[in-house]
Amino acid sequence: MRLEGKVALISGGARGMGAAEARLFAQEGAKVVIGDVREDEGRQVEAQINEAGGEALFLKLDVTSEADWESVVASTVSRFGKLDVLVNNAGIGGGGRLEHTALEDWDRMMDINAKGVFLGTKTAIPAMREAGGGSIVNISSIWGMVGAEMSSPMYQASKGAVRLLTKTTALQHADDGIRCNSVHPGPIATPLTEASRNDPERNRVMLERTPMGRYAEPIEVAYGVLYLASDEASYVTGSELAIDGGWTAQ
Ligand code: NAD
Repeated sequence: MRLEGKVALISGGARGMGAAEARLFAQEGAKVVIGDVREDEGRQVEAQINEAGGEALFLKLDVTSEADWESVVASTVSRFGKLDVLVNNAGIGGGGRLEHTALEDWDRMMDINAKGVFLGTKTAIPAMREAGGGSIVNISSIWGMVGAEMSSPMYQASKGAVRLLTKTTALQHADDGIRCNSVHPGPIATPLTEASRNDPERNRVMLERTPMGRYAEPIEVAYGVLYLASDEASYVTGSELAIDGGWTAQ
């Protein structure tokens, strides 16, 4: 199994890509902690994994709260003995043009999508150092790599921040044996994209712009995250993995 003996914490693991990663990691032998603000859905994923013979624990986590992160990392170590893998996956979407972007919407998106990754990383590093090293996988987006008029300045700024925060983390913690990489998904069929997929015009534009002409399933991203989390990626740090049906190749 590819994550045998590892302990992994996945933020935003209650649904979408985070839930797919939690299930896959557990199948591959990891003990998985699911941190999310969605308690009911998070507990469902926890139960599904445990019923399937895996080991999972749901913990309430608001990624914007440093106190929540400290408590979740401490509980992970006390329950499973250590922390090897952190997937900073929690995030929100949102469109709109720059001049119509409200300050409070900008702040909320930066808080969840960018500050949340900073706080998670900051809190996990001492535990990973204690474990002798680790792997941090930050979920950015194609829209953290290239501009898109159909996205929004606040989403692009937040995901661009994740991309470069990843590289600084990789450089500052290479000596600790802590690797850090970013993943850049294209259009993925999750609850986050449900509204756009149900809007015929937006759906048409997304499909036309995606070379492979379809949305991916969450598991197609989870396999890439699994690779970066595992020891198979032992020499990979500071890198960016696009899983985007060819979007950023254009
Ligand atoms: P999703 O909405 O299905 O799941 C996101 C999860 O994050 C939810 O369970 C939600 O409760 C959780 N979350 C939101 N705010 C939180 C907070 N403050 N604290 C803790 N948890 C919180 O979305 P998804 O599509 O699975 O997205 C996962 C990640 O992938 C996000 O960072 C998103 O920006 C990114 N992404 C998504 C797509 C896509 O097409 N779906 C593309 C590129 C990047």
